[in-house]
Amino acid sequence: MQLNVLKNYPLSELTTFKIGGAARFYVKAESTDSVYDSIDFAKQHGVPFYVLGGGSNLLVSDKGYDGVIIHMSNTETETRTDGESVYKTCGAGVVWDNFVSECVNENLFGVECLSGIPGTVGASPVQNIGAYGQSVDNLISEVTALDATTGDIVKFSNADCKFSYRKSFFNSEGFGQYIIVSVKYILKRTGKPNVKYHDLEKYFLKNANITLQEVRTAILKIREYKGMLQMEGFRGFKCAGSFFKNPVVSAAHFDNISDIINAAASARNWYWPIANSSEVKVSAACLIENCFGKGFRTGRVGLSPNHTLAIVNYDDATFDEVMDFAKQIEDTVYERFKVTLDREVQILR
Ligand SMILES: Cc1cc2nc3c(=O)[nH]c(=O)nc-3n(C[C@H](O)[C@H](O)[C@H](O)COP(=O)(O)OP(=O)(O)OC[C@H]3O[C@@H](n4cnc5c(N)ncnc54)[C@H](O)[C@@H]3O)c2cc1C
Repeated sequence: MQLNVLKNYPLSELTTFKIGGAARFYVKAESTDSVYDSIDFAKQHGVPFYVLGGGSNLLVSDKGYDGVIIHMSNTETETRTDGESVYKTCGAGVVWDNFVSECVNENLFGVECLSGIPGTVGASPVQNIGAYGQSVDNLISEVTALDATTGDIVKFSNADCKFSYRKSFFNSEGFGQYIIVSVKYILKRTGKPNVKYHDLEKYFLKNANITLQEVRTAILKIREYKGMLQMEGFRGFKCAGSFFKNPVVSAAHFDNISDIINAAASARNWYWPIANSSEVKVSAACLIENCFGKGFRTGRVGLSPNHTLAIVNYDDATFDEVMDFAKQIEDTVYERFKVTLDREVQILR
């Protein structure tokens, strides 16, 4: 197969931040073979490679990338029904929300709350995407990946993926080695739509007969209100979703933070005790707002006024401007709360 390698390919339009220079080499990989050949090409040219999905969790340097960008674009899907369960295996390049929309249209339960998350199927296990009370660790039965070091195809069971909050084997030990080529999800033919999350409970009040399509519509509306959509016809910001993760702290540290957080802030949902542990997950947005207020902005970069965890490129900001802004947030939160904010967004430079 002849590999179509493009040179000096602009990356900014391939990311939701709309920031970044050009890739020295770019391949639109529409099959597992072309992923394999792209890795081979990178080895022959003595350059690194980087896997790109929808670019919705990525901030790319203005200097671009001196290697091969492998843009996952394989979109074959297969459906198998086994009693109450429906197994859908999707190519890594399938647009995540197209998959969700298809499941909702087929009245399959389990993925409805993940409506409107930008990006691809291939990236869904990487940071174990989650929203509104659902996450993919409860849906994935198998991940198929190409081992870039050996060229072998490897199957990962759910347990092999080592899922936790915004974490998996693929963005930790396995990062850079395994390229996900397809993901198999299990959906259910019967069930109850998941509306436990407080925003959804508020939206539906006590309405007991809600359809999956109504949950999807509600989530898209809530996401649009928060500026957390990247869909044609909906209002959104140039950003990569939440820039920071919610930190997990010890019980003693939590007490110190509580003393600093003011009473008004503590009236809202700003922490979540972790089951079977003395640790507590704290809302990063609450810590940031305590330091900066809502919608803090410096020049062309700022916090989203509707979703504090999102850093927004307001007007052709540079990579450095975003990084400097993020550092200011991190340093100030650390100074006040002694909490290190980990980044959810991946940086490519
Ligand atoms: C407006 C907005 C809202 C968002 N809301 C949410 C949310 O509610 N919940 C949530 O969890 N996330 C959310 N995100 C973050 C983002 O959508 C997810 O992380 C998504 O899974 C990224 O997919 P992608 O295809 O765009 O990945 P990319 O940004 O292209 O890549 C992200 C990382 O995954 C790696 N990667 C991508 N594909 C593969 C592959 N096939 N194999 C191996 N590695 C791969 C890349 O190398 C990179 O390190 C949001 C982002 C935006 C812009």
